[in-house]
Amino acid sequence: MRLYNTLSKRKEEFVPVEEGKVKMYVCGPTVYNFIHIGNARPMIVFDTVRRYFEYKGYDVNYVSNFTDVDDKIINKAIEEKVSADEISKRYIAECKKDMEGMNVKPATTHPLATEEICGMVDMIGDLIQKGYAYEKNGTVYFRTRQFKDYGKLSHKNLDDLRSGERSLLVTGEDEKEDPLDFVLWKPKKEGEPSWDSPWSAGRPGWHIECSVMSRKYLGEQIDIHAGGEDLVFPHHENEIAQSEAANGKEFAKYWMHNAFLNIDNHKMSKSLGNFRTVREISEQYDLQVLRFFMLSAHYRSPLNFSAELMEASKSGLERIVNAADNLKFLMREAEGDMRPEEEEAFAKTAGFVKEFEDAMDEDFNTADAVAAVFDFVKFCNIHAGEGNSKEYLQKLFDLLVKLTDVLGLIVDKEEEILAEDIEKMIEERQAARKAKDFARADAIRDELQAKGIILEDTREGVKWKRA
Ligand code: AMP
Ligand code: ZN
Repeated sequence: MRLYNTLSKRKEEFVPVEEGKVKMYVCGPTVYNFIHIGNARPMIVFDTVRRYFEYKGYDVNYVSNFTDVDDKIINKAIEEKVSADEISKRYIAECKKDMEGMNVKPATTHPLATEEICGMVDMIGDLIQKGYAYEKNGTVYFRTRQFKDYGKLSHKNLDDLRSGERSLLVTGEDEKEDPLDFVLWKPKKEGEPSWDSPWSAGRPGWHIECSVMSRKYLGEQIDIHAGGEDLVFPHHENEIAQSEAANGKEFAKYWMHNAFLNIDNHKMSKSLGNFRTVREISEQYDLQVLRFFMLSAHYRSPLNFSAELMEASKSGLERIVNAADNLKFLMREAEGDMRPEEEEAFAKTAGFVKEFEDAMDEDFNTADAVAAVFDFVKFCNIHAGEGNSKEYLQKLFDLLVKLTDVLGLIVDKEEEILAEDIEKMIEERQAARKAKDFARADAIRDELQAKGIILEDTREGVKWKRA
């Protein structure tokens, strides 16, 4: 497997830090509003990366934070006259709903910055002790020039940064030893949430959050650190400086960055008024369509969101789902094991699997992987029909589900029967038994069984479980 590493600016063979395991950290959103479709891009892209590693048999520890302390959250709280905590909790819950709609798996851990302040205070103290940080009037700064490798990710050198330092100077930070130094801890302003620390009652800078959460949940050295390309500088550059200065070893082996999502060929921004939230899209489309749209391009290519492309994605996804439905329909009537000519036909599907894996192995080329799925769909449409055995059809179906599942696309739309409906049917069955209508009682049991629900008559009553 090869992936593009922003650090070396080339594709590299993936070699895990620990055999069979992948430790990855993806910078998550700042939660002060519904997530927009730009935020959805890294979520979908890196969820797909995770799924492919899992498909390859790796055990993936996937950590993605929520930044729940930030100026934007505080401003929104003031605007609504509620606490910052209420704002962040509300939008974390909304974000999780959107993630579910896009079939983005929950992370192994979703740490919250506000619950990790202790660890941040520890790391900042450690950096001061090691000479990488200093305090001035309650604010702690990172001594950027002290870290010799500063600039290695963004490929900037310190002298270039010096010439642009005017723009890096933030008002009120003129007490810094050097304009390149950045904030690790800042004292609170009136009415802001704050925590105690040896330097002041205040809150952490944004960059230190990720260094601390990554180390706590994944260890000092991780395989992949990821996010949108706007995070390369300064966020990720600063994370490297903090983590490597504190831990004395390389932080992440591979740095992956997705390109930006534009809208109607313009940068998406609030000031241009062309902002679209995932929630708005969900009113018009199944979010599976949004996911399919995101994967139709390579993650390192800019992607343009438009109504036409969404319509094209909708029909593309329908083609795949229709093929799955057709196989399911055929399976209902079919029976028996694979026949020799079917074995021969099925052997040909290895070609599609190879096409799919080759695409994903080459820096997660999801556009080509989708093309491989389409080729397989075409094959199914031609080579599956009424005369085929159940085993053959099932195998085609399972393979289609397996490949689309790597992309996080749900093609097996059989709606899961709800617990309350199951309970209702069980009650109806009990009533039928009481009335000695055993035919009806058996019919209900069979109906549930067909939906994958198994009933067990026990002394305490009827119990059920999903097969
Ligand atoms: P933020 O909440 O701004 O920190 O962003 C959360 C994640 O979304 C980061 O990985 C950003 O790089 C990413 N992101 C923000 N806007 C876009 C966009 N228009 N296209 C792609 N990724 C984006
Ligand atoms: Zn981060």
